[in-house]
Amino acid sequence: MIPYGKQHITEQDISAVVEVLKSDFITQGPKVLEFEQAIAQYCHAQHAVATNSATSALHIACQALGLSQGDYLWTSPISFVASANCGRYCGAQVDFVDIDLDTVNICPKKLKEKLVLAKQQNKLPKVVVVVHMAGLSCDMQAIATLAKEYEFTIIEDASHAIGGQYHGKPVGNCQFSDISVFSFHPVKIITSAEGGIAVTNDKALASKMRLYSSHGVTREQATFTNGIDAPWYYEQHCLGQNYRMTELQGALGLSQLQRVDNIIEQRQQLAKRYQTALTGLPIQWQQPVDDNYSAYHLFVIRLNDDAKLTREQLFEALREANIGVNVHYIPIHTQPYYRELGFNQGDFPVAEHYYQGALSLPLYPELSEQDFDHITTTLHTLLG
Ligand SMILES: *Cc1c(COP(=O)(O)O)cnc(C)c1O
Repeated sequence: MIPYGKQHITEQDISAVVEVLKSDFITQGPKVLEFEQAIAQYCHAQHAVATNSATSALHIACQALGLSQGDYLWTSPISFVASANCGRYCGAQVDFVDIDLDTVNICPKKLKEKLVLAKQQNKLPKVVVVVHMAGLSCDMQAIATLAKEYEFTIIEDASHAIGGQYHGKPVGNCQFSDISVFSFHPVKIITSAEGGIAVTNDKALASKMRLYSSHGVTREQATFTNGIDAPWYYEQHCLGQNYRMTELQGALGLSQLQRVDNIIEQRQQLAKRYQTALTGLPIQWQQPVDDNYSAYHLFVIRLNDDAKLTREQLFEALREANIGVNVHYIPIHTQPYYRELGFNQGDFPVAEHYYQGALSLPLYPELSEQDFDHITTTLHTLLG
């Protein structure tokens, strides 16, 4: 079966991890720090806090922004559940903003409408998690303008988007947000096995995130409040978690980061070849946006309503042809957990319409010419 995504591990990656195994530090040590600095530099941000997953990074981002019970967090219904769950971990109420069908990202116009209404009801969000779907940045300028007017903070869930660019600058530079989060899960663009990172330009937010990622415990003497300064002494200042990244993960991530631009170029080329090869079929794909360079974590197609197969039939037929397609994503608000919180089918009609036709085609740098041709030919046979 041709998978929809696949990690790329080189001999250099393997040596980097083995070197750590032979060193004195396998949990906390120099590699994680080096990885944090390299990511911050790569995306033109000031600070980075590495974690054991993007889910953890989203959680500490919410904690650092002070999200708690009685607050609202808004996000896109078309994302992985982690984009919404981070709000629930903090006891906040979660709500969603419908998407734009062309970009599959949160729609700034709908966001504005919802904000106007929320202001009247005194239910404005504290945090909005925007998701750069499949690697295409959201309209950050428009969203940041609304953030100023309605006084909410912004977390970019850039799990799909490392290596992408918005207005000529790397995604994650936080020009239009408070915190950006990347995932290094093996299906993502670069991997540290499990792993994630939160980047920010705000020093205080970075310190808080570091605290929350490690039990709420600090060894920074300058911050001590008990008036004790013994060499073994540390203080717990809040209730944090153990979300730290290991040296093994840091070394793998650092090694992978050296190739990220090359990986994005290959993904861009494959996406362009899909667009050319699939022209004329009853399908849509994410519309390119000016000045917005997608990292192409996924190549998502959406089947037209009048196509001769349903998405389910197309999914089955492609799987039968050994093409491991997938679906990104089931609208979060339709999950039983969120239904229990009061959401219903029909609440976010554009997201639900998108989902009816959505299918992710295989996309990864090592996808062979032969496999690519097999995928596009099969699609023509099934849909043409
Ligand atoms: C993968 C993903 C996450 C979670 O990442 P983990 O590193 O697996 O925790 C969160 N949000 C989005 C949009 C993702 O695709």
